[in-house]
Amino acid sequence: MNKNWHNKNILGQNASLRKRIAWHITHQENCGCRSIPETVQREIRKSKLTTPKTKSKKL
Ligand SMILES: [Zn+2]
Repeated sequence: MNKNWHNKNILGQNASLRKRIAWHITHQENCGCRSIPETVQREIRKSKLTTPKTKSKKL
């Protein structure tokens, strides 16, 4: 788990769905300690957002 990243990227309780999607995509790139929830995955597919390729992994 990328604790450093989590400390810098705290997802608020009332964050919008858009924010949630962006958070999960970035999370997968930087940490990935948990998978993207089904509800968020569905929204990603719906909005046709593509997950950016993991290239610059900062640890
Ligand atoms: Zn994580």
